[in-house]
Amino acid sequence: MPAKLAAGNWKMNGTGAALTEIEALQSSHPAPGCDVLICPPATLIARMADMTSGSAIAVGGQDCHAAAGGAHTGDIAATMLTDAGASHVILGHSERRADHGESSADVLAKAVAATEAGLVAIICIGETLEEREAGRTLEVVLGQLEASTPDASSAETVVIAYEPVWAIGTGKVATLEQIAEVHAAIRDALAGRFGDGGDFSILYGGSVKPSNAAEIFGVANVDGALVGGASLKAADFSGIITALEASGG
Ligand code: PEP
Repeated sequence: MPAKLAAGNWKMNGTGAALTEIEALQSSHPAPGCDVLICPPATLIARMADMTSGSAIAVGGQDCHAAAGGAHTGDIAATMLTDAGASHVILGHSERRADHGESSADVLAKAVAATEAGLVAIICIGETLEEREAGRTLEVVLGQLEASTPDASSAETVVIAYEPVWAIGTGKVATLEQIAEVHAAIRDALAGRFGDGGDFSILYGGSVKPSNAAEIFGVANVDGALVGGASLKAADFSGIITALEASGG
């Protein structure tokens, strides 16, 4: 069975003051019935990892460099994330693919570095609105999946996040039929390539909030969510965790 995961992506939001949200989350979910992960800005990883040590909340990075170290100003190596207390890293988020020109080959190299460092790589894939309207959704998503995922991937080292680009931060959510179609195709592709495709966690991401989480988690092959805006406030993220705990999946 795939692990159920509620993953929060704080993006470039939050200073030390935001750590009170983690305290609130620990109070509302001392023993969550699903995996819970927060990926704060890099500046907060070590402090958050100290706070959550021994608790059920895991901490992750939002990106890493493919190299082990060296002259890469502003970048972070995968081993630096583990050293800071991270257990996961988000890779290939559409904002990085768009803002930093990251290709699937770049994401693959980062994913290899991350998994070799002992991190779980959350590999993001998703189509733009233009690609969907051109009927290219599955071609794009499965192409990114194939090209971004290491050959040595397993359900223990890699999580896939399907995030339609047009649904991220826009308030537009893919329909349940659209989510079902893409998640089933991802599951089939993983099974075809890795054999244990049924065990990989496949997250949906794109304007997930407490009010729509339950119906999204009811869709076949949805094992959790990657959540941006609604992960910033404990009260909102808590509602999503509760929906995932209650889902049959
Ligand atoms: C994301 O950042 O991956 C995301 C899905 O953002 P939001 O939930 O705000 O749409």
